[in-house]
Amino acid sequence: MTSSNSTVQTLIRSIIRDDVQALSAYHVPDASGFLKLDAMENPYRLPADVQQKLAQRMAQVDLNRYPVPSYAALKTALSQHFGVPAGYDVVLGNGSDELIALLSIACARPGAKVLAPVPGFVMYAMSAKLSGLEFIGVPLKADLTLDTPAMLAAIREHQPAITYLAYPNNPTGTLYDEAEMEEIIRTVGDSGVVVVDEAYQPFAQRSFMSRLPEFPNLVVMRTVSKLGLAGVRLGYMSAASELLQEFDKVRPPYNVNVLTEAAVLCLLENAEVFEQQAADLREQRQQLSIQLAALRGVTVYPSSANFLLVKFTDSEGKAGQSPSFADQVFTKLVEQKILVKNVGKMHDLLHSCLRITVSKAEENAVLLKALQQILG
Ligand SMILES: *Cc1c(COP(=O)(O)O)cnc(C)c1O
Repeated sequence: MTSSNSTVQTLIRSIIRDDVQALSAYHVPDASGFLKLDAMENPYRLPADVQQKLAQRMAQVDLNRYPVPSYAALKTALSQHFGVPAGYDVVLGNGSDELIALLSIACARPGAKVLAPVPGFVMYAMSAKLSGLEFIGVPLKADLTLDTPAMLAAIREHQPAITYLAYPNNPTGTLYDEAEMEEIIRTVGDSGVVVVDEAYQPFAQRSFMSRLPEFPNLVVMRTVSKLGLAGVRLGYMSAASELLQEFDKVRPPYNVNVLTEAAVLCLLENAEVFEQQAADLREQRQQLSIQLAALRGVTVYPSSANFLLVKFTDSEGKAGQSPSFADQVFTKLVEQKILVKNVGKMHDLLHSCLRITVSKAEENAVLLKALQQILG
């Protein structure tokens, strides 16, 4: 080890938080050359005429200027297009990942807690811990629906500042029961906010957005990522305006860049393209689900998102330990240059499960053919 290297090691040990040193970096596999069915991306490219309109708009952007900090035009367009109720504002984030981080920062009072069903979206726990909040995970039932009595008991015991309900949930695809969610929101009451994360709204077509006026402690969070714009990085959330103003105080003032702003404004004018794609993906989800369920040893969980959670067992109906049967299927898919997400180690309830993004018909057919061959 060179001396500069050992200085760096000393420096790291003396200044970087122990919990941060212990973390491993968020790993995103290199997917070049793969059929990419791991990250819930929309498989479609923009039609040529929309590409041209977008290019023209992007060329006119004042790259020399900071964004106008009110983001008024973008907020108005998002609110109108996505049905934010009258009198409700939105806070914008560099993806909803950033909004989750802002919520943690704003609520990080000493002893504050974040609660969510598990398995759930990993950023809830990650972001809570990085801001010094304790994370409480409440296991879902074996069928991956909400364990509402356990949720209510945990809420009463821990009084979480933030409760997350992904509607539908990732990585399970489950659309929680609406009446049970209402009960959770009411039970939390004025001791915390409930964030309903509607990242998959285009595929679920169910939403709490219009119900904001009923629940003063409700935050509805959305993103344009799963709709087909994962690359532009834009999330938004709405809630009672006084509450929203507090969250907005911890937002870096120029967190959404001018290219994102111009691109989303242009693309919302052509929103029918994305609506059509979402409709096609919903139809593909239905077909792929039936086709996968017909394979030997495959269980497909009900999904309201653009992915399917699939459990694999071998010809004797066994899931196996480590490697699980799904681990073996995953490795064979990788050999065939198909990338899905192996979620088996995330939680006991996901043992021997893979999460597969629903794509367009041609790509789903490639996956299905590979699985038919692997499973025999
Ligand atoms: C993908 C996803 C997000 C993150 O969306 P970005 O806007 O791309 O950061 C948030 N919540 C859930 C449940 C997701 O699956």
